Amino acid sequence: MTVVRTPLVVGNWKMNGSFEANRLLLESLLGLLAQKRLPDVGVCPPFPYLPQVGALLAETPVVWGAQTVSEHRMGAYTGQVSASMLKDLGCRYVIVGHSERRQFCGETDEAVARQAMAALDSGLMPIVCVGESAEEEAAGQTLAIIDRQLAPVLLALAGVADEGTSVVVAYEPVWAIGTGKTPTPEGVQVVHAHIRQALQQAGLVQTRILYGGSVKASNAETLFALTDVDGGLIGGAALDAVEFSTICTAAANRLV
Ligand code: PEP
Repeated sequence: MTVVRTPLVVGNWKMNGSFEANRLLLESLLGLLAQKRLPDVGVCPPFPYLPQVGALLAETPVVWGAQTVSEHRMGAYTGQVSASMLKDLGCRYVIVGHSERRQFCGETDEAVARQAMAALDSGLMPIVCVGESAEEEAAGQTLAIIDRQLAPVLLALAGVADEGTSVVVAYEPVWAIGTGKTPTPEGVQVVHAHIRQALQQAGLVQTRILYGGSVKASNAETLFALTDVDGGLIGGAALDAVEFSTICTAAANRLV
């Protein structure tokens, strides 16, 4: 079987934006991306802007998604947003287990796995984030932490895993997020190859593995040239149309 993994670049806007800023950013981005050879491209704005972003991106090659999702279907969960609601808003992707959610909202590995399953149940593609802290990296625990974070997700997927299962994994070392630091390309490849092996053992050979953490226009090409890097999850640079469009075109180099 031929394995084709279309490269993917997703912008995580975090808690940034306004109606005006979003419009300017997306108009500029769409202009820069026009006529270009593109990977799959998505942006994940804060919840309140999903309808605006959906309207601005309708009929364009850029899709949209959310930054988190409830593990529950519906009911008395004040402040939470379900996967079916995101689907109603036209979302294609949802990020789950971002390190900021794990750190500030106490999300556990198991809760992240439940969110991923809730997303899949509603036809959304979960982008499952994993990554070690600076302390864990210094202690040489990177691969063990990734295994621990991935284990409940792979277990949950075991019953449903097949070639059509649409999951994305993003490796985001916590110490690289928003810091301007990145692992060496060799270091990124080692972790991605490790994740690839775990996914393959679970039967997920088509699953894309994104790298995230201080990806910029200046380092995207090097990172996206790595064997097991299928694209990027982009934070700060996703708020700059020129940076983000350059990152997208760098990922397009992986297109066969
Ligand atoms: C992120 O928050 O997912 C991220 C990768 O951030 P940055 O690109 O700013 O490091």
